[in-house]
Amino acid sequence: MGQRAAIFRRIAEAAAMVGEHRRIGAEEAEQFAEMKGRGNACRAPHPRPPARVRALAGPVIGTWVSEREQRLVSQFWLEPPSQLVAMGLEPCLTAVNQHAAALLVVPVGGLVPGFSCTRCGALSSTGESCPDGPAAARAVPDLFEEMVVRTLNDSGQVEAVRDPPGEVAARLRFPPAEPE
Ligand SMILES: [Zn+2]
Repeated sequence: MGQRAAIFRRIAEAAAMVGEHRRIGAEEAEQFAEMKGRGNACRAPHPRPPARVRALAGPVIGTWVSEREQRLVSQFWLEPPSQLVAMGLEPCLTAVNQHAAALLVVPVGGLVPGFSCTRCGALSSTGESCPDGPAAARAVPDLFEEMVVRTLNDSGQVEAVRDPPGEVAARLRFPPAEPE
């Protein structure tokens, strides 16, 4: 029981970390869009809470993250196409629904609303991907976040990067069965 509690705590911590990373990425993207919208790229971005900037987006962490990101992303692109790699939202949803994701690579920013089936738990972009149909589907604000939680629950790894291959990508434990 102690061990299980520890596992759940680890999952919660990891999910919170990825969530925070994604949220900060989304804020940066918004600021950038605002700057572009004003047509004044030289203007300083909004001030941000200094403690959070220091703790989570310091230059050392930034460099470390971007090097890791580049390595991770280029590994996906360099690899020959395989049934053990999923790129794009639909293939990744299929993989996560089948507990096949060993590594999920999500973007730091952006929300993709979708659905989760209240009966079988299937995640989908349409609410129509499982036999229970739209009546059993519950709207979720961010499919990426749901996929992160599922992957961690399945003892998979999650990385949040700026520009994942195909918007979201996964390395799989086994080739997923075709969705019906
Ligand atoms: Zn269902």
